[in-house]
Amino acid sequence: ENTLHIIGGGLAGSEAAFQAAEAGVQVVLHEMRPKVETFAHQGGDFAEMVCSNSFRSDDHEQNAVGLLHWEMREANGLIMRMATEHRLPAGGALAVDRDAFSASVSEVIRNHPNIRIEEGEITELPTEGNWIIATGPLTSGALGESIACETGADSLAFFDAIAPIVYFDSVNMDVAWMQSRYDKGETEEEQKAYLNCPMTKDQYEAFIDALLAADKTEFHEGETAKYFDGCLPIEVMAERGRETLRFGPMKPVGLTNEHDPENKAYAVVQLRRDNTLGTLYNIVGFQTKMKYGAQQDVFRMIPGLEDASFARLGGIHRNTFLNSPTLLDDQMRLKSRPNLRFAGQITGVEGYVESAAMGLLAGRLAAAEIQGKTLETPPLNSAMGALIHHITGGADAKTFQPMNVNFGLFQPVDGLKGGRRGRKDRYKAYTDRAKAAWIDWLSQG
Ligand code: FAD
Repeated sequence: ENTLHIIGGGLAGSEAAFQAAEAGVQVVLHEMRPKVETFAHQGGDFAEMVCSNSFRSDDHEQNAVGLLHWEMREANGLIMRMATEHRLPAGGALAVDRDAFSASVSEVIRNHPNIRIEEGEITELPTEGNWIIATGPLTSGALGESIACETGADSLAFFDAIAPIVYFDSVNMDVAWMQSRYDKGETEEEQKAYLNCPMTKDQYEAFIDALLAADKTEFHEGETAKYFDGCLPIEVMAERGRETLRFGPMKPVGLTNEHDPENKAYAVVQLRRDNTLGTLYNIVGFQTKMKYGAQQDVFRMIPGLEDASFARLGGIHRNTFLNSPTLLDDQMRLKSRPNLRFAGQITGVEGYVESAAMGLLAGRLAAAEIQGKTLETPPLNSAMGALIHHITGGADAKTFQPMNVNFGLFQPVDGLKGGRRGRKDRYKAYTDRAKAAWIDWLSQG
C-alpha cells in the first residue's frame, strides 16, 4: 500500500498532503466539510482560519514563532507560502487575508496531480493502510469516540484548561523560593519541582478584587461551558467565595518561606516545573477565561512575578487533543498502531502555525516511510524539533496541556548571560543555531 490517507483538510492536513504529494507519494485527503460542519468553520475550503487572521510574529531572529515561519518556508511549506502571498499590513506580525489564503491553498491542493479529495466524515479509526489524522480541535464526535476507545478515555481530552506558563528566568527568586509542599519528593530534582510565591493578607485581598474585576472572554456559541469542578477557572472559584482560593490552589500549608521563615504566608501561589529543561513553570490551578491583557496585569500582582514573562497565557477551550507524551513516538506514530500518525492541534500543539508545522513534519515523515527511506526526527535545536520533542517526550505527561512554540523549549546556549538583559543575544544565538540545524536536517530528507 503506497497511498497516504489524510483525515482533515485544515491547516495541518493541507500541509501534510502537499508535502507528501511533492515527495511523490499518492495522497487521498478526506474532509467532512461542507457536508458536516463544525461550530467554528464557515465554509468548505481547506486551511480555514477559524478565528484571528494572524500568524503572529514574523521576526525570525528574536521570536520562536517567527523562527518556525522561517523553517517552514525553507521546507517549501504551502501554508507559509500562501500566508506570505496574502499578507496584510500589520507591522512585525504576519496578518493574512483569510479568504484569499484558504482559496489559494484549496486551489493548489485540488489541482495537485498526486492528491485526490474524498468528501465525507470518517467515523472510525482506520485499521489498514498509512494514515495521518489531522482532524483538529473540533474532531467530529464519532471519530473522537473511536480514538478514545483506542487510547483510553483518560488520554484524549475534549477541553483544555491551560494555566499560564512563566519563564523561570523572569521569576524574582529574592521573593519566591523552591520547595515542594511538606518537602515531598525524594531527590533534589523533585524538590525543585515547585516554586512558591508568598502573599500577605492585604496582597491576597487586593488580588481577589482584581480577579473579580478583570475582563473575561465568553465561550463561543456552540462551545458549551461544561467545565468540571477539577478545572474551574480561578475567577469562578473566587466568585464562589473570597476564601475559596486560600483553601484551594493558594493554600499556604506545608511550606516555609526561606526568605522569611518566622512568618507564615497568608496564601501561596505555587508554580510547577513544566519541562525537563526547567526553563518553564506553570501556575498551578490557575486556568482562566480572563482576557490576555488582564491576565498579565493580575498575575504580575503576585509577589515574585512582578516582572514575569509568559511563555503562554491561560485559557479554557473546546479542544480535542491526545496525551502525546504517552501515546506518540517521535515519528508522530501512535505507539499502539504505528500505521496511524497524528498531526496538527490534536497532537497537543496550539495555534495555526504550530498546527501547520506538525502537518509539514508528519507529511514528510510519512512520505519517507512509504518510500522506504529513513528520516530522523528533526534536531532538538530547531524550532520544529523543540516542539516535537516537547509533545512526544519533554513535557510532563501527567499535566500535559497544549503548547505554543517558545524559547523555553530550547536547550540553553552555553556561555550567554541569563535574565532579561541577555535576552536579545540569547534569542539570536538560539535562532542562528536553529537555522543551521534545520538546514542540515532538510539536506537529509
Ligand atoms: P483544523 O484546521 O480545524 O482542521 C481539521 C479539519 O478536519 C477540519 O477541516 C475539519 O472539518 C476536519 N475534520 C474533523 N473531523 C473530521 C472527520 N471525522 N472526518 C473528516 N474530516 C474531519 N489558533 C490560532 O493560532 N489563532 C486563533 O485565533 C485560533 N482561534 C481558534 C478558535 C477556535 C474556536 C478554535 C477551535 C481553535 C482556534 N485556534 C486558533 C487553534 C488552532 O490553531 C486552529 O484550530 C487550527 O486550525 C488547527 O489546525 P488543524 O489542522 O489541527 O485543525
